[in-house]
Amino acid sequence: MGSRRRAVTGPASVLCVGQATLDHVLTIADDLVVGRKHMAQRHDVVGGGLAANAAVTVSRLGGTAALASVIGDDETGDSVLAGLHAEHVDTGLVQQARDVHTSFSSVIVSVDGSRTIVNHSPAELLALPCPALDDVACDAVLVDGRWPAGTADALSFARRRDLPGVVDVDRSSVDAAVLATCFELASHLVFSEDALRDLTGALAPSDGLRRIARDTGAHVSVTLGARGVVWLDGDDACSLGAFPVDALDTTGAGDVFHGAVALALAEGADEPGAFTFASAAAALKCTRPGARAGIPDRSEVDRLIDRSPIAREVAAT
Ligand code: ADP
Repeated sequence: MGSRRRAVTGPASVLCVGQATLDHVLTIADDLVVGRKHMAQRHDVVGGGLAANAAVTVSRLGGTAALASVIGDDETGDSVLAGLHAEHVDTGLVQQARDVHTSFSSVIVSVDGSRTIVNHSPAELLALPCPALDDVACDAVLVDGRWPAGTADALSFARRRDLPGVVDVDRSSVDAAVLATCFELASHLVFSEDALRDLTGALAPSDGLRRIARDTGAHVSVTLGARGVVWLDGDDACSLGAFPVDALDTTGAGDVFHGAVALALAEGADEPGAFTFASAAAALKCTRPGARAGIPDRSEVDRLIDRSPIAREVAAT
């Protein structure tokens, strides 16, 4: 990875802030038809949520991961915590609110691999304040924008400490007030293609990013699924193609990408280096089933980068 200097030695630490859910994944043998009864072939209960999956990514990739989030004091919340502990994620900043349900998703996977997701995140959960972050020791912050108070407080904290403050700007988190906060406080805005299109219309990704760059001082980029990632360096558009893999399940690729970008920046990488690292991690995830189960470890990512001439070239520019 190309790098800039980092004062701290040892594993880099990332604070991830936002959503933690429990997902019930039902796999059916036919196409989903709304209004019809289907019989599932599989039922998997797995931890989910953008920030939570990003925290697990940081941990699997050898970083130190902490999650700040809000869950309920129900059995679902206990399962969410157990899943995070199994992945060595520090949950000291996960608040279990009384008498509120934990965020929950029903996911239906059809025979062609497409996913239909219905999430319920109680409004009273997302309205909770963020605990004080002043004593947190970390090298970068990643927010998913789903928890307004957490988003604002974590990005302010990162800015005060002069740390990377990365935002996963997903369609589901594009709330105008939260977005304004992110534009003002983030160091890096990483858009999904849908979120960028929602904001900039039919512009090509690079022109969409140029439009966004008028309103923020943050580094701006957009992930384009199997078409890779595009970012701006000044007014110049740069791109990196996705690593060519046999994709089996792309669920969670974005969460892995964002967690890996935050970790690489925390380690002192520059943007091309961070995007190369994240693209490799996300591509490996796509070769395996499950948003969380499919997250690779560090040695797998390093091996994929080492054997890819394209990645070496981009990382060297
Ligand atoms: P999101 O789910 O947030 O929209 P994307 O679908 O854009 O995220 O995927 C994030 C990144 O994951 C991409 O930029 C790319 O690096 C990687 N990725 C996604 N799909 C594939 C694929 N089919 N093959 C290889 N890499 C992929």
